[in-house]
Amino acid sequence: MKTQCDILRTQVLVIGGGVTGAGIMRDLALRGMHCVLVEKRDVNAGASGGNHGLLHSGARYVLSDPMAAAECREEGDLLKRLAPQCIEDTGGLFVAMPGDDESYAADFPNLCAKAGIAAKSMAPSEALTLESALSGELVAAFHVPDASIDPFRLSLEMIAHARELTGCNLLRGMCVINFEIFDGRIVRAHCLEAKTGRKLIIEPEQVVNVAGAWSGKVAALAGAHIPVLYSSGTLLVTSERIARRVINRLRPPADGDILVPGGTVSILGTTSVRIADPDMCRPSAAEVDLNIEQGASMIPALRSIRYIRAYSGVRPLLMANTGAGDDRAQSRGFALFNHEAEGLTNFLTVTGGKLTTFRLMAEKAADLVARRLGVGAPCLTRSVPLPEIGGCEWTGPGRSPRAWLARKEEDGPLLCECEMVSAHTVDELTKDCHVDAEDLGISALGVRSRIGKGSCQGAFCGLRVTAHLYDTGKCASRRGLLSMRDFFANRFKGQRPILWGAQMRQYELAEALHCGLISLEMLPSHKPDEVR
Ligand SMILES: Cc1cc2nc3c(=O)[nH]c(=O)nc-3n(C[C@H](O)[C@H](O)[C@H](O)COP(=O)(O)OP(=O)(O)OC[C@H]3O[C@@H](n4cnc5c(N)ncnc54)[C@H](O)[C@@H]3O)c2cc1C
Repeated sequence: MKTQCDILRTQVLVIGGGVTGAGIMRDLALRGMHCVLVEKRDVNAGASGGNHGLLHSGARYVLSDPMAAAECREEGDLLKRLAPQCIEDTGGLFVAMPGDDESYAADFPNLCAKAGIAAKSMAPSEALTLESALSGELVAAFHVPDASIDPFRLSLEMIAHARELTGCNLLRGMCVINFEIFDGRIVRAHCLEAKTGRKLIIEPEQVVNVAGAWSGKVAALAGAHIPVLYSSGTLLVTSERIARRVINRLRPPADGDILVPGGTVSILGTTSVRIADPDMCRPSAAEVDLNIEQGASMIPALRSIRYIRAYSGVRPLLMANTGAGDDRAQSRGFALFNHEAEGLTNFLTVTGGKLTTFRLMAEKAADLVARRLGVGAPCLTRSVPLPEIGGCEWTGPGRSPRAWLARKEEDGPLLCECEMVSAHTVDELTKDCHVDAEDLGISALGVRSRIGKGSCQGAFCGLRVTAHLYDTGKCASRRGLLSMRDFFANRFKGQRPILWGAQMRQYELAEALHCGLISLEMLPSHKPDEVR
């Protein structure tokens, strides 16, 4: 028996809801085009939500990849002007420790100058005055224009802007599983919503593959080949912020050599481990140890500070040759594949690159789409500022406490005490978070706010927010409970490799609440027909 299937038509189907997919969606919309963005999990579920949040000045790549360094410098400058609400312009220090290669420190200013990056040399004592957490043993220091960026706000605002401009749609939890190809064109994309089993067919004029580390898998559905390597990296989140600036080790890129401020916390990373499948990416205890050991020689407090979470992401690195050797030697540049040599005329892939260079990647992809569709409008993302769109700002650390203090009376109880998210904020989020969803659930709210990001890692707020969603009729089906369980499972994935000291005690309390008290682990697994 044939089942009925919804059909959606659009000019452009964009596959992958990371920062590049969101950037392409906005670029196309600014040129007047309509697109549908399909994401198998949620916004920034891939590398865009598993990165360091460093808006590179380019200085990290001046030796290993000067072209990527210059791209980062130019794009970083543009983003600071056009999306300042997503950026904390902290500045950054590169510091050398005893034993680090002295010739690297000696060449660094010239290499930076060649890439157009302003690097200012300073005495170690001056660096110590700026950042007292640094080890007193440092032997050289430079100041560079690094910054910290909130990738969640960035993607959410770009998607919301595209919706406003041409009514573009974001379909979350929807995976592209197959293509129908006729006469060298993808005429239909078959999609599956994993949680409900709902099937959807999309009939696009053009298809853009921006599935990051999964782009090779998506290309294979169309019979095309993308040479990507999977390099996973693990990062650690401290319970408090240790430094005001980004701090980099002055040496060729290696493990555990960058500390980035993430609002109220600091983020230490990262490792680089080749994996066989991007779906196998998760932080390991060995990577946690390596990051701490390396980072602590630069910032001793990293040895004893409380860590609240580890997370990881997969870099989609383009294979330069055979794919052998150190993954850090692979280019950080990006590539656009038009797939015409493979006989496909309405399919393209853009992959590789950095969070910092996503806008340029989106521009190149949208240029090709516009040419193919005969749209003459130019790219505007170089000049049009990203508007601040209501509902997207709650990812910012410190935003909820400020709102709560300003309107305490009418804000109701705090549902998340670590990050001070009130009931009123949760109501605003559910009203205005720019997604089409019947049952939103706490997992989706966690992506769009600071819920679950504090030291309790969701132990209390997970229960309170879900109860509030049911109480206020925002959640009506079993999906609310399942979403809460997914949320806790995800938080646990990040706690497992850092469980010692205070965080261990915190976790045991969470386990007692979630399993001992409400038996959440007894909830049956969610097969599509169980979700009512
Ligand atoms: C550990 C680490 C640290 C990093 N640090 C930095 C940094 O500090 N600064 C910087 O500039 N860059 C950094 N990067 C690089 C940066 O994160 C990536 O270059 C960037 O996020 C890639 O974005 P993307 O949108 O291309 O891919 P992704 O963000 O991976 O998005 C791809 C999306 O496609 C979805 N998808 C896959 N298959 C399908 C399908 N069949 N149907 C529907 N959806 C699908 C996935 O769920 C995913 O959300 C880092 C990367 C890692 C891994």
